[in-house]
Amino acid sequence: MGDDVWIPAYAGMTELKSRYIVKRLILLVFLLLPGVLHSADYPSQGVVKKVIDGDTIELKSGDVVRYIGIDAPETIYSRRMSEAFWKEATEANRELVEGKTVRLEYDKQVKHDNRLLAYVYVGEIFVNGELVRKGFALYSPFGPNRSKDTLLFQYENEARKNRLGIWALPLKNPSKGYIASKIKKEGEIKKFHRIECPHAGRIANRNKVSFKSIDEALDEGYRPCRTCNPLERCYP
Ligand SMILES: [Zn+2]
Repeated sequence: MGDDVWIPAYAGMTELKSRYIVKRLILLVFLLLPGVLHSADYPSQGVVKKVIDGDTIELKSGDVVRYIGIDAPETIYSRRMSEAFWKEATEANRELVEGKTVRLEYDKQVKHDNRLLAYVYVGEIFVNGELVRKGFALYSPFGPNRSKDTLLFQYENEARKNRLGIWALPLKNPSKGYIASKIKKEGEIKKFHRIECPHAGRIANRNKVSFKSIDEALDEGYRPCRTCNPLERCYP
């Protein structure tokens, strides 16, 4: 009697299980499909012909590759080429990749401004991460390309706490205080401002969060505003 009840129940479970497996297989094909398309359309590796700056290279194929998730000094704060530490960052990048074969790994968005957006590897070395870890570039989340955010943020914290590279330089425009908004839309990057920033003036008092130092804001996961450039450095 007990067996009669048990057998159909078991058969039902098996059917459910195989339906589940088929569903998972279909899902897997759809998940892998973009990866297959990527590798067909974009190079998976190349030889570095020229190092343009601390976060951009040109391959022998003519493709220009912008490293994902980081910003080296000359591009984060302004378009000027005289940013403190840009030469050092370019040199560090050159030592890592120039003349070498690099492997390119893509995230969700593969192109921007006609450049390939990639995580770059030389052998086992994760170049984007290495530049951030040694203080030659900042972690800089961009668009939907966020798969290495946690790692890059961790590397930046290491460099910042050990005062490596750019973190050893004094601030160009230190402020009495820094401000951010508590309100954050889904997927939006939390930004902090110098109190003098016009964007800071537009935040309603009830939504304001204040920080005494940039370290405090960075520890809380806020990223620097591109308008007021709270992290901009200068040579001592
Ligand atoms: Zn600002």
